[in-house]
Amino acid sequence: MKRVLFLFLDGVGLGDGDRGFNPFVQARMPNLNSVLDGRIMLRGISAFSTDRVSFVPADACLGVAGMPQSATGQGAILSGINIPYRIGKHWGPKPNAEIRAFLRKDNLFKRLRNQGSVVGIANAYPPTFLSAVESGRRALSSIQFAMKCAGVNLMTESDLRQGRAFAADFTGESWHSKLGFKDTPILNLEEAGQRLACAARAYGLLLFDHWMTDVIGHRGSMDEAVTILENFDEVFGGILNTWCVDDGLVIIASDHGNLEDKSTKRHTLNPVPVLIIGKGHRKVAANIRDISDISPALLSYLRM
Ligand SMILES: [Zn+2]
Repeated sequence: MKRVLFLFLDGVGLGDGDRGFNPFVQARMPNLNSVLDGRIMLRGISAFSTDRVSFVPADACLGVAGMPQSATGQGAILSGINIPYRIGKHWGPKPNAEIRAFLRKDNLFKRLRNQGSVVGIANAYPPTFLSAVESGRRALSSIQFAMKCAGVNLMTESDLRQGRAFAADFTGESWHSKLGFKDTPILNLEEAGQRLACAARAYGLLLFDHWMTDVIGHRGSMDEAVTILENFDEVFGGILNTWCVDDGLVIIASDHGNLEDKSTKRHTLNPVPVLIIGKGHRKVAANIRDISDISPALLSYLRM
């Protein structure tokens, strides 16, 4: 079966090997390390494939001056178009009218849905977020907007309770500690990964938006950066022990650098990691050089 589980890590690039500034050097990530045959994801590592995985350092600058931003980066990932080049700048965090017009016209989710495929964002959005969007007080990200253009609603508290959608921190603890819920489900990290992998079997493409990595890149400490990577690795472990090669592809990708360099609170010019696991990973990876190549590569995989 051809399907894709897309683990989108916002603001995660390939940094240098400085232990003081790059949380990837400090974090214990046994699952990622084993998939990468012991390599750490750093700048300067060339594209490679093993039997299990392909890794590509993808350019996120797209030939446009200035720091890459989320709205244009996510827009490029989902439209397959070099949107920053077309609009003459990197832009974010939320998409402006020009970026929205590109996504409205065509995007990965919309394209797949029109082909009869089931697409979704695996995140559960809290009622406060959804009502702020409804009233116009908050704007959708490019990822969320692209899904809306495909005619698919964001998932809610009820989807979280029923195990169909996942909290931003994967475990759901933040729904208790930050959002004040007392009885929404709490999972451990590995279990969240296992359930996410199972949930993906009902989709042609299911994307989890791990936006917290960019937030920690901007505002978090080094310790928080290490923790979010280690937590993600546990989730990834749960996905790996549940996902069968025949289930399709798991792809990890990002829109721009940030978290990998704690010497700055800003985005970086670093390339971003693209990791592809599952039968056919080499063929998909072979077509990816920059982040605007991701969508066409996934579309041609899903058509194969
Ligand atoms: Zn950011």
